[in-house]
Amino acid sequence: MLRRKLALVTIALLFSTLACRAATRLIFPDTPTPPPTSTPLPPATLTPTPASNANCSILASRILDDAINFEFDDEEASEKTLLVSYVATGDVLSKPFDSVVPSKYADEQNDRATQTEIWNYFTRLIPPEDRAFVAAYAIVTDGSGNILASVAQNTSDAEDWILEVDILDATNKYVLTVTLLHEFGHLLTLNASQVPPSVAIYNDPESNAIYERERKACSTYFPGEGCSLSNSYLNQFFERFWLDFYDEWQSIDAEEDEARRDALIEKFYTKYEEQFLTNYAPTSPMEDIAETLTFFILTPKPEPDSIANQKILFFYEYPELIELREQILSRLCVEFP
Ligand SMILES: [Zn+2]
Repeated sequence: MLRRKLALVTIALLFSTLACRAATRLIFPDTPTPPPTSTPLPPATLTPTPASNANCSILASRILDDAINFEFDDEEASEKTLLVSYVATGDVLSKPFDSVVPSKYADEQNDRATQTEIWNYFTRLIPPEDRAFVAAYAIVTDGSGNILASVAQNTSDAEDWILEVDILDATNKYVLTVTLLHEFGHLLTLNASQVPPSVAIYNDPESNAIYERERKACSTYFPGEGCSLSNSYLNQFFERFWLDFYDEWQSIDAEEDEARRDALIEKFYTKYEEQFLTNYAPTSPMEDIAETLTFFILTPKPEPDSIANQKILFFYEYPELIELREQILSRLCVEFP
């Protein structure tokens, strides 16, 4: 339970049936973190494209629609296996560090081209200043389907983050795009400038006592790794859109049995459907804001005719996020000429 809460659960699929909530923070078990080698990555050749460009806007919406409707060849989730880890310095990846893995994953482990292309795509999509704290990148798998990607605090520094991608699920570029934007939603809303990490929790993530102490001392929204700043995107979003039913949601979230909890969340979603953009959003305030940010970037500015749309409009209250949206859309539209 505690582990589940601590995990910066950051799943990336838009479908509740595929979504999984568990992620552990342990990514690099005693992996040395040598200085990155200077393996230059191909520079992104970005030609600014106005995001207001009609074709670009249509493309962005189509990417989202196709991703939502994409059907995975879903197999039963297996334990997450770490295949390869990289240290990231800016855009540059270190040499790969291979884990010992079952032979059935040998091809995926050795597929450096796909591994680096996914990373390069992430760096081309997200402006560097908005992901400077992403200090590691890992290739994992839990079998086909299930978790596609996640982010979490890195083990080397509480303020650093790691991006993990399941290489088996990263074959469709639309789905990958939406997933990476969703993960970026977590990075944007959970990084240290928004949620200063609790050193006590970071140093002793298994301690219930410390976790409870930190949670109770937090008067704003508490996502698990620290207390959100009062004016953070996440806390502002939470106070506006979650306070009314947070008690109800918390009693559901306290359910230990995962299948039962998922069923309860589904019922909760049915009850408040017009407030959520996807059926994955009610999983938690963190997932809701990540889903909403994805819609904010990929869909046209909506009318405030539903709470779900008002959530999208929330981001338009921040000039820096409007600018960020334009930048990401410009970058996206270069990718799909
Ligand atoms: Zn997520």
